[in-house]
Amino acid sequence: MKYLEEFRDPELARRLLDDIHGIAKGQWVLMEVCGGQTHSLIRNGIDTLLPDAIELIHGPGCPVCVTPLEVIDKALRIAAQPNVTFCSFGDMLRVPGSGEDLFTVRSGGGDVRIVYSPLDAVKIARDNPAREVVFFGIGFETTAPANAMAVVQAKRLGLKNFSMLVSHVLVPPALDAIMSSPHTRVNGFLAAGHVCSVMGYWQYEPLAQRFRVPIVVTGFEPLDLLQGIRMAVRQLEEGRYEVENAYARAVTREGNVPAQKLLSEVFEVTPRKWRGIGEIPNSGWGLSSAYREFDAAIRFDVTDINTVEPAICRSGDVLQGLIKPNECPAFGKECTPRKPLGATMVSSEGACAAYYQYGRFVSLESIG
Ligand code: SF4
Repeated sequence: MKYLEEFRDPELARRLLDDIHGIAKGQWVLMEVCGGQTHSLIRNGIDTLLPDAIELIHGPGCPVCVTPLEVIDKALRIAAQPNVTFCSFGDMLRVPGSGEDLFTVRSGGGDVRIVYSPLDAVKIARDNPAREVVFFGIGFETTAPANAMAVVQAKRLGLKNFSMLVSHVLVPPALDAIMSSPHTRVNGFLAAGHVCSVMGYWQYEPLAQRFRVPIVVTGFEPLDLLQGIRMAVRQLEEGRYEVENAYARAVTREGNVPAQKLLSEVFEVTPRKWRGIGEIPNSGWGLSSAYREFDAAIRFDVTDINTVEPAICRSGDVLQGLIKPNECPAFGKECTPRKPLGATMVSSEGACAAYYQYGRFVSLESIG
């Protein structure tokens, strides 16, 4: 299958669904790791077409959602400084910090700009030597290579006015934390294909064996997801716990080795806080000693900010699959995309936003 439409073919989707209905005998809970997968599943109604015995729960794979409040507060403090041009992808501007968001800083006179690539921020720094240019470097293993490239480029150009506020997170330690929780309900994972296209999937093999949990690398189109679900359910029914690849057109076991080399040069593994979840050991990347001069948190002295997340937002439970978005008491009432209380409602990849946008105001279980 070469073209996008072919991954949305209704006849093939029907056949895959029939297969899944035929295979599924036990009760299984599958977690799709990535918010892009969540949106595709809900937008295409795949959750409503599966056998009742298969439940989909939604994982932590949304970069905007997992960025903790304290990092947003750091961004706000940096962006408000008069000599700073603060550059970010658009989604982050709407995420509220403890008091305001980056849009508010901009409307108050701050130079906050939306960029489409971290290299755009490097160019702004090169063209404006009198200003401090800061890029907000968040996200999973997917976005990290471009951010690493931007820092390398800034070093090559000898820029002294470029820095990056880094809050990168890594998927395997998050899956480890989810499976280590006594409350986990996960029987199988649909791993995020774009993350694995960079990192490969060999890192997932010890997790599958240790937790006896199938992990299927999956893409984002309806047929990708149905195929991933079919492979995960088949493993569960056969008592197998392996890593399988349902996204071979983009992913290999080894991944993108040159990108991995770049990442290990620019970044080093650190503990990282996740929104609503707290700190997970070894779950983030920070700038390595060779590139630490570009660390905005050190340059602007914001390492002292330690924000406590408000209790009203249950995004931590949503991101661990412990509740569905519509089980949060604030969902669709105090919290809507127009007045979001948390990042999972703000982000275009957030599970709360998906449930709101596609009308999942009550759970499928409650309507039988
Ligand atoms: S519905 Fe709103 S308050 Fe509830 S978890 Fe989602 S973002 Fe947080």
